[in-house]
Amino acid sequence: MDLHCHLDLYPDALKLLPEVSRRNRFTLVVTTSPRAWVATTRVFAGHCNIEVAVGLHPEIAEQKAGERELLLQSIARTRFVGEIGIDGSSRFRATLPLQEAIFRDAITECAKQGGKIISIHSRGAGSRVLDILEDHRGAGKPILHWFTGTPRELRRAIEVGCRFSVSPAMLSTTKGRELLTQMPIGTVLPETDGPFTLAGGKPYLPWEAMDILSVLAKVWSMDPLAVASQLDSNLNSLLEQ
Ligand code: MN
Repeated sequence: MDLHCHLDLYPDALKLLPEVSRRNRFTLVVTTSPRAWVATTRVFAGHCNIEVAVGLHPEIAEQKAGERELLLQSIARTRFVGEIGIDGSSRFRATLPLQEAIFRDAITECAKQGGKIISIHSRGAGSRVLDILEDHRGAGKPILHWFTGTPRELRRAIEVGCRFSVSPAMLSTTKGRELLTQMPIGTVLPETDGPFTLAGGKPYLPWEAMDILSVLAKVWSMDPLAVASQLDSNLNSLLEQ
């Protein structure tokens, strides 16, 4: 399974699609703009284990601000939302107020629609993201993708009901493994964030999210089979209505 990948952005996406469907039990394809979501849902239709989430990536908030209304309208038409969020790194500081406004709107809409499964970007903005999630506890099931916040932010995230999608790239860092040790095992899900993460110069493929299995087995002191079944039940709990 892969709970956060940009399958539409691989050069050979359409060729990959049937293989992803065959090899993964479930794949959540996140999009970076609502118009991309409209196009991608059309092209990726026909695989019941591949879901396409509607998003507006915070890094391109300014370029895509004109699609803000379309984002809100689209949220009513799907169970899956992402990639949305806030990026607090210095490169995107100028658009922080806009990013925050769009994220707040989207989360408000998720709550109004009875709750969604939401993949969230929070780099350098953990506390801003959590402030908004704490104000909208009916927003559904938030998944913090590639969480890199502080241990204190992690505790707040757990308290507000967040899940965490973690990638092989994240777990290759000491900080990533350190955060993993503090995540309740029922909240952890695999992701790749491909094609933006590379393994030996090549983008991670969606089924390679499961490469985290060996690290999880070590950190959780479980055998890999037990880890796989834990992840299965974590996915079931995410997807149950
Ligand atoms: Mn992403």
